[in-house]
Parts: sequence; C-alpha cells; structure tokens
Amino acid sequence: MLITNHVVSGAIIGSVAPGPSSAFVAGLASHFALDSLPHWGERRIFLQVAVVDGLVGLAAMGALARLAPASRRGRVVAGMLGACAPDADKPSTLFFGRSPYPRVVDDWHISIQNESPRRLPQEVVVAGLGALVARRLLRR
Ligand SMILES: [Zn+2]
Repeated sequence: MLITNHVVSGAIIGSVAPGPSSAFVAGLASHFALDSLPHWGERRIFLQVAVVDGLVGLAAMGALARLAPASRRGRVVAGMLGACAPDADKPSTLFFGRSPYPRVVDDWHISIQNESPRRLPQEVVVAGLGALVARRLLRR
C-alpha cells in the first residue's frame, strides 16, 4: 500500500486516540490491516512510484502535523509514525542493504500483501478521501 495512505490513516487514528502510545500501537496495527486489503503493487515500477509516494507522504505528514491542534499533535504524529514504521524496511534495504526487522517479520509482512498492478487509481482516490477525513477530524 502507498505510504501516503498509511500516513493519512495514522493521522486519523491519532486524532481520535487517547494518547501517543495508544496512537502509535493502533497505527502500527492499522499498517498490517491495510496491507492485507486489496491494494496497488507492481514490482517493475515500484521504485519510481515509491520515490514520489515517499515525498508526498512526507509532505502529508508535515501538513497534517501542522494542521493538528497543539493538544493533539503528539498523538497524531505518533499515529502516523506507527502506521508507517513497518515500511521502514524498504528505504533501509535500498540504502543500507538490509531491513531493520527480523526476517520472520519481513516474511510475514510480505505474505499478507494483496497487490494488483491495476489498483493505483484506487489508492490515489483512497489517499485523497482519507486526507479530507483527516483534515476534517483535525480541524474539529
Ligand atoms: Zn507494508
């Protein structure tokens, strides 16, 4: 799943979580739940999309953190970090040649993927709608 969707879902979770710890744990759980749903995946162009997605996700993380009221910002950031943490294996493997996680975790993470190369439009729509929901929740 696009990291931008994990960022947005983490912000939504963080906006309603009682605190940063619960936001991080719920964000972490959401990552694996979302990865098990049907989503986009295409090995041949993965890196090109991942670079753009990573930059968009980082910008979204900054914008959503800035949009969050100061009283909820820690929870929102913790939710986003928890939701994104499992995919730290991708840049780590690219830049350092290895994942920060045990092999059993990475193998399980790969095994739950439900990918299709035809679902990129779906992911973009989900990211846009999720950003609107997060924006609305953070402005409450
Ligand atoms: Zn993942």
